[in-house]
Amino acid sequence: MTTTHQRQQKILDCLKKDDVCTILDLAELLSVSTMTIHRDLDKLAEQGAIVKVHGGAMLRLAAPSSNPSSACLMCQQNVRSQLAFVLQFDNDEQKQACCPHCGLMMLNMQDPALMLATDFLNGNKVNALQATYLINPALKTCCSPAVISFASNEDAQRFQQGFGGELMNFSEARVFLNNAHAIPKNY
Ligand SMILES: [Zn+2]
Ligand SMILES: [Zn+2]
Repeated sequence: MTTTHQRQQKILDCLKKDDVCTILDLAELLSVSTMTIHRDLDKLAEQGAIVKVHGGAMLRLAAPSSNPSSACLMCQQNVRSQLAFVLQFDNDEQKQACCPHCGLMMLNMQDPALMLATDFLNGNKVNALQATYLINPALKTCCSPAVISFASNEDAQRFQQGFGGELMNFSEARVFLNNAHAIPKNY
Protein backbone atom coordinates (compact mmCIF):
# COMPACT_ATOMS: atom_id res chain seq x y z
CA MET A 1 0.00 0.00 0.00
CA THR A 2 1.25 3.44 -0.81
CA THR A 3 -0.02 6.50 0.98
CA THR A 4 -1.76 9.31 -0.86
CA HIS A 5 1.27 11.46 -0.32
CA GLN A 6 3.65 8.87 -1.81
CA ARG A 7 1.35 8.42 -4.76
CA GLN A 8 1.19 12.13 -5.42
CA GLN A 9 4.95 12.35 -5.22
CA LYS A 10 5.25 9.53 -7.76
CA ILE A 11 2.82 11.28 -10.05
CA LEU A 12 4.90 14.44 -9.84
CA ASP A 13 8.08 12.45 -10.52
CA CYS A 14 6.46 10.89 -13.56
CA LEU A 15 5.29 14.26 -14.84
CA LYS A 16 8.70 15.73 -14.30
CA LYS A 17 10.15 13.07 -16.54
CA ASP A 18 7.54 13.04 -19.28
CA ASP A 19 5.68 16.37 -18.95
CA VAL A 20 2.41 14.70 -19.79
CA CYS A 21 1.18 11.36 -18.42
CA THR A 22 -2.18 9.82 -19.12
CA ILE A 23 -4.44 8.79 -16.28
CA LEU A 24 -4.37 5.21 -17.56
CA ASP A 25 -0.57 5.16 -17.52
CA LEU A 26 -0.48 6.52 -14.00
CA ALA A 27 -3.09 4.05 -12.78
CA GLU A 28 -1.08 1.18 -14.21
CA LEU A 29 2.22 2.51 -12.92
CA LEU A 30 0.90 2.89 -9.39
CA SER A 31 -1.45 -0.13 -9.45
CA VAL A 32 -4.49 1.86 -8.41
CA SER A 33 -7.80 2.65 -10.07
CA THR A 34 -8.20 5.54 -12.48
CA MET A 35 -10.67 7.03 -9.96
CA THR A 36 -7.88 7.19 -7.39
CA ILE A 37 -5.60 8.89 -9.90
CA HIS A 38 -8.37 11.37 -10.73
CA ARG A 39 -8.69 12.26 -7.06
CA ASP A 40 -4.92 12.62 -6.66
CA LEU A 41 -4.74 14.84 -9.72
CA ASP A 42 -7.59 16.99 -8.41
CA LYS A 43 -5.67 17.48 -5.17
CA LEU A 44 -2.46 18.33 -6.98
CA ALA A 45 -4.29 20.71 -9.30
CA GLU A 46 -5.86 22.40 -6.27
CA GLN A 47 -2.39 22.91 -4.83
CA GLY A 48 -1.33 24.45 -8.12
CA ALA A 49 1.29 21.76 -8.64
CA ILE A 50 -0.13 20.54 -11.92
CA VAL A 51 -2.56 21.41 -14.65
CA LYS A 52 -5.09 18.79 -15.65
CA VAL A 53 -5.58 18.17 -19.32
CA HIS A 54 -8.08 15.88 -20.98
CA GLY A 55 -7.23 12.28 -20.14
CA GLY A 56 -3.99 13.15 -18.39
CA ALA A 57 -2.11 15.56 -16.25
CA MET A 58 0.47 18.11 -17.03
CA LEU A 59 3.08 19.69 -14.85
CA ARG A 60 2.34 23.28 -14.06
CA LEU A 61 4.81 25.47 -15.84
CA ALA A 62 5.29 29.09 -15.00
CA ALA A 63 1.97 30.88 -14.82
CA PRO A 64 0.90 32.13 -18.21
CA SER A 65 2.03 35.62 -18.99
CA SER A 66 0.94 37.97 -21.73
CA ASN A 67 4.36 37.69 -23.27
CA PRO A 68 5.57 34.15 -22.76
CA SER A 69 9.28 34.43 -23.16
CA SER A 70 11.45 31.45 -22.40
CA ALA A 71 14.75 33.28 -22.41
CA CYS A 72 16.42 34.47 -19.24
CA LEU A 73 16.48 38.25 -19.00
CA MET A 74 19.96 38.21 -17.50
CA CYS A 75 21.88 35.73 -19.63
CA GLN A 76 19.48 34.90 -22.50
CA GLN A 77 19.75 31.17 -21.87
CA ASN A 78 16.60 29.10 -22.03
CA VAL A 79 14.55 28.99 -18.86
CA ARG A 80 14.18 25.44 -17.58
CA SER A 81 11.04 24.88 -15.55
CA GLN A 82 12.99 23.03 -12.86
CA LEU A 83 15.18 26.06 -12.09
CA ALA A 84 13.09 29.05 -13.12
CA PHE A 85 13.01 32.16 -10.99
CA VAL A 86 10.07 34.44 -11.67
CA LEU A 87 9.63 38.09 -10.83
CA GLN A 88 6.04 39.21 -10.75
CA PHE A 89 5.06 42.87 -10.89
CA ASP A 90 1.99 44.76 -9.78
CA ASN A 91 0.88 45.35 -13.36
CA ASP A 92 0.74 41.57 -13.96
CA GLU A 93 3.99 41.71 -15.85
CA GLN A 94 6.26 38.74 -15.33
CA LYS A 95 9.97 38.40 -15.89
CA GLN A 96 11.82 35.12 -15.86
CA ALA A 97 15.34 34.16 -15.04
CA CYS A 98 16.86 30.82 -15.94
CA CYS A 99 17.72 30.00 -12.33
CA PRO A 100 18.06 31.56 -8.86
CA HIS A 101 21.56 32.71 -9.77
CA CYS A 102 20.26 35.08 -12.45
CA GLY A 103 17.02 35.73 -10.56
CA LEU A 104 18.78 37.01 -7.48
CA MET A 105 21.13 39.13 -9.58
CA MET A 106 18.15 40.55 -11.45
CA LEU A 107 16.85 41.97 -8.17
CA ASN A 108 19.62 44.54 -8.26
CA MET A 109 17.80 46.17 -11.16
CA GLN A 110 14.17 45.25 -10.51
CA ASP A 111 11.76 45.63 -7.66
CA PRO A 112 9.07 42.99 -8.11
CA ALA A 113 5.92 42.62 -6.05
CA LEU A 114 6.47 38.90 -5.73
CA MET A 115 9.33 36.53 -6.42
CA LEU A 116 8.87 32.87 -7.10
CA ALA A 117 11.64 30.32 -7.02
CA THR A 118 11.18 26.72 -8.10
CA ASP A 119 11.55 23.67 -5.92
CA PHE A 120 14.28 21.71 -7.64
CA LEU A 121 12.76 18.35 -6.68
CA ASN A 122 9.13 18.71 -7.69
CA GLY A 123 9.07 21.84 -9.83
CA ASN A 124 6.54 23.64 -7.64
CA LYS A 125 6.80 27.38 -7.34
CA VAL A 126 7.68 28.68 -3.92
CA ASN A 127 7.93 32.15 -2.42
CA ALA A 128 11.56 33.04 -3.08
CA LEU A 129 11.87 34.74 0.30
CA GLN A 130 11.11 31.46 2.04
CA ALA A 131 13.06 29.11 -0.18
CA THR A 132 16.33 27.46 0.82
CA TYR A 133 19.16 27.90 -1.64
CA LEU A 134 21.96 25.45 -2.27
CA ILE A 135 24.98 27.27 -3.60
CA ASN A 136 27.55 25.57 -5.76
CA PRO A 137 26.51 21.90 -5.46
CA ALA A 138 28.39 19.34 -7.55
CA LEU A 139 25.87 19.76 -10.32
CA LYS A 140 26.04 21.68 -13.53
CA THR A 141 23.27 24.19 -14.19
CA CYS A 142 23.01 27.04 -16.66
CA CYS A 143 25.00 29.45 -14.49
CA SER A 144 28.10 29.30 -12.36
CA PRO A 145 28.28 29.14 -9.40
CA ALA A 146 25.18 26.95 -9.63
CA VAL A 147 22.31 27.96 -7.37
CA ILE A 148 19.27 25.74 -6.93
CA SER A 149 16.28 26.30 -4.67
CA PHE A 150 14.11 24.13 -2.47
CA ALA A 151 10.75 24.69 -0.80
CA SER A 152 11.72 22.56 2.17
CA ASN A 153 14.84 23.03 4.21
CA GLU A 154 14.92 19.26 4.89
CA ASP A 155 14.93 18.43 1.19
CA ALA A 156 17.74 20.92 0.71
CA GLN A 157 19.76 19.28 3.47
CA ARG A 158 19.23 15.83 2.03
CA PHE A 159 20.26 17.06 -1.37
CA GLN A 160 23.32 18.72 0.11
CA GLN A 161 24.40 15.39 1.60
CA GLY A 162 24.58 13.95 -1.88
CA PHE A 163 25.79 16.92 -3.88
CA GLY A 164 27.62 19.14 -1.42
CA GLY A 165 27.44 22.90 -1.64
CA GLU A 166 26.38 25.46 0.89
CA LEU A 167 22.85 26.09 2.18
CA MET A 168 21.70 29.68 2.40
CA ASN A 169 18.52 31.61 2.93
CA PHE A 170 17.30 34.28 0.53
CA SER A 171 19.33 37.21 1.81
CA GLU A 172 22.50 35.16 2.36
CA ALA A 173 22.28 33.84 -1.19
CA ARG A 174 21.80 37.37 -2.52
CA VAL A 175 24.81 38.70 -0.65
CA PHE A 176 26.88 35.72 -1.75
CA LEU A 177 26.06 36.23 -5.42
CA ASN A 178 26.71 39.95 -5.32
CA ASN A 179 30.10 39.25 -3.77
CA ALA A 180 30.81 36.49 -6.26
CA HIS A 181 30.16 38.90 -9.11
CA ALA A 182 32.09 41.74 -7.54
CA ILE A 183 35.19 39.68 -6.74
CA PRO A 184 35.54 36.71 -9.08
CA LYS A 185 36.78 33.70 -7.18
CA ASN A 186 37.55 30.15 -8.13
CA TYR A 187 35.02 27.67 -6.89
ZN1 LIG B 1 20.18 33.43 -16.69
ZN1 LIG C 1 21.00 30.25 -14.86
